[in-house]
Amino acid sequence: MKASQGILTVRGGMTSHAAVVARGMGTCCVSGCSEINMDEANKKFTLAGKEYHEGDEISIDGSTGKIYDGIIPTVDATIAGEFGRIMAWADKYRRLKVRTNADTPKDAKKARELGAEGIGLCRTEHMFFGDGRIDAFREMICSETVEEREEALEKILPMQQSDFEALYEALEGYPVTIRFLDPPLHEFVPTEEADIKKLADKKGKTVETIKAMIDSLHEFNPMMGHRGCRLAVTYPEIAKMQTKAVIRAAMNVKKAHPDWNIEPEIMIPLIGDIKELKVVKAVVVETADAEIAAAGSDLKYEVGTMIEIPRAALTADEIAKEAAFFCFGTNDLTQMTFGFSRDDAGKFLEAYYESKIFESDPFARLDQNGVGKLMKMAIDLGKPVNPNLHIGICGEHGGDPTSVEFCHKIGLDYVSCSPFRVPIARLAAAQAAIAEQK
Ligand code: PEP
Ligand code: MG
Repeated sequence: MKASQGILTVRGGMTSHAAVVARGMGTCCVSGCSEINMDEANKKFTLAGKEYHEGDEISIDGSTGKIYDGIIPTVDATIAGEFGRIMAWADKYRRLKVRTNADTPKDAKKARELGAEGIGLCRTEHMFFGDGRIDAFREMICSETVEEREEALEKILPMQQSDFEALYEALEGYPVTIRFLDPPLHEFVPTEEADIKKLADKKGKTVETIKAMIDSLHEFNPMMGHRGCRLAVTYPEIAKMQTKAVIRAAMNVKKAHPDWNIEPEIMIPLIGDIKELKVVKAVVVETADAEIAAAGSDLKYEVGTMIEIPRAALTADEIAKEAAFFCFGTNDLTQMTFGFSRDDAGKFLEAYYESKIFESDPFARLDQNGVGKLMKMAIDLGKPVNPNLHIGICGEHGGDPTSVEFCHKIGLDYVSCSPFRVPIARLAAAQAAIAEQK
């Protein structure tokens, strides 16, 4: 993806992994064009009756999802003087803060340039794909004992810590919310024979054993499977390692910049029951407090949760007792409220528009009547129990103007969106505040 000028996929949708990652990088992406007939073996595909071969040229429009034959001339967007003026006006009027979803210092810096006031979501899993990291991560996954897993996690810890240090440096004291490991582990395992062999050699296991371990991770419905906080419940050592990395990074950066306000926000994903949060939070707090005491530091930190499972919204009064903050993960909340797969819904949504069941993609524009009602319910239940609760949104809707307006109306503290959508979120937040005054 890093090497690509644009990304076009047959499967997926607005909030599937490819689209989310591409949006973060600012790379044009059309995800989920099911009309493409792909022939991978012969390096060609057919679309609209035409066959395309390796080296052929096409143009794609990530906003409309349109695909064009040949190259369409484009110009790079520039930020002219008037842009800054309008943005300054917008900032004067808006009440909502605007944060960004960023996992790398480069993306975070871009977002800061565009006016982001913090990171609302750092998806830590994206840090595991870098050079040298994926090997250690695979060693962790293909472990049979806690000791084996901890040994692999020890290798990952310094890398993750230095990533977080770079993020804190890039944010210069603005808040950073770090979300603990979320995707199912099978997303990381090797598929190529050579990589499987490499892993087997490293682990001192046979290729067959590694293949059997990889097979055992297969799930029929992975988005509802072994992911999110369920990983931390099963393997608390992963949450321990991530906590150490966050706390050590924060303490180091705080030491280097005593005037910056460094207070880590640790976010636990996919909570559906208060007891899940209690179990994972206990691991985080025990680890963090030990790190802070050992370093003689006075670092403060918060543990909060994503609200992305309908049951979490329905029981938000219980969850608010343990959470310092809520952040609505409306990608998953939409998926689980409608029961539509965020990776597969693209296939049938077109028929929904034609039948006038939907006017727009609920993964792009928030369904205020249903998903929005759950959000409002969570706020109404959570705030009275914990008046200090701060609340944001980090699903893709955080960068959609009508959804931002809704977030303003229901009293969120901030929206968080990919770096290049920060200006539109700032403008939409100001428009919502002005509309309210009228
Ligand atoms: C979400 O579910 O809205 C979210 C932000 O998390 P992710 O997209 O990583 O599942
Ligand atoms: Mg999610």
